[in-house]
Amino acid sequence: MQSKNQLLSLPILKEKDVSITLKREDLLHPYISGNKYRKLKYNLEAAQMKGHHTLLTFGGAYSNHIDALAYAGKEKGMQTIGVIRGEEIKDAWSSNTTLKRASANGMVFKFVSREAYREKDSDGFVSQLRKDFGDFYTIPEGGTNALAVKGCEEILDSNDQKFDIICTCVGTGGTVSGLINASNTSQKVLGFSALKGDFLKSDIRKMVKKDNWRLITDYHFGGYAKINIELIDFINQFKATTDIPLDPIYTGKMLFGLLDMIKNDNFVPGTNILVIHTGGIQGVEGMNTVLKKKNLPLLTI
Ligand SMILES: *Cc1c(COP(=O)(O)O)cnc(C)c1O
Repeated sequence: MQSKNQLLSLPILKEKDVSITLKREDLLHPYISGNKYRKLKYNLEAAQMKGHHTLLTFGGAYSNHIDALAYAGKEKGMQTIGVIRGEEIKDAWSSNTTLKRASANGMVFKFVSREAYREKDSDGFVSQLRKDFGDFYTIPEGGTNALAVKGCEEILDSNDQKFDIICTCVGTGGTVSGLINASNTSQKVLGFSALKGDFLKSDIRKMVKKDNWRLITDYHFGGYAKINIELIDFINQFKATTDIPLDPIYTGKMLFGLLDMIKNDNFVPGTNILVIHTGGIQGVEGMNTVLKKKNLPLLTI
């Protein structure tokens, strides 16, 4: 399954003689957004092949991965369990749009404290989950494992060989790793980190064999899910001029960063850039409830 490529038309691109083509992975599936569809594909196959009926995963209360897994489980007729970070949400989850939809799609939740969540890979935690829920197929937080990377290798097709640069956003690094594996060595892959910290570089290194890539760490806006008025304005402006929605956690920060780099002459004239729109639009509603509480302008998507 391939998503369509869409050429962007913006004054700055004309001025600098750089082209951006967006790969609309956000439109790949009506409910399972972009890269999460890619990351789940071979994991769902493996779970079914091994005879599992239940899928268990981990995530925050606004997680695109939680949203995607709940829908995918429903589609495959499998039970899904979400281990959710933050015990305080336990009694308030029905006012969270992501969790409300996941529950409507059949997901069962286990809410755990942030301390317990940090220990989620420990033997004690896992054996407690087995006591609670019986046998299940585990998909890691954010959905990243070797099968997810394999799925993300299918984002690119042979027509994409012509691009000089391939850009994507980075959370756990699974998506960028798939792109690196599928790229040719004359192409350069740029990953825009959505979170603070240098550990991602070594995480990615473990999943790839090539070195034609770079992690850009200047555009996380203070850390994961952090947002300010400048970013909100940018996303709203981008939607108004291109009619393409961006999400505030990943794709909005990446496009902000990439356009900033183009402004600062980081790319030679004539460069052709492919940008993966990884989706994430389901999270806008949740972000807007947070923005409203903080009296900040809303995202107009
Ligand atoms: C999860 C997600 C990412 C991050 O993907 P990783 O494979 O974890 O790096 C990027 N963009 C969107 C919209 C996502 O939902």
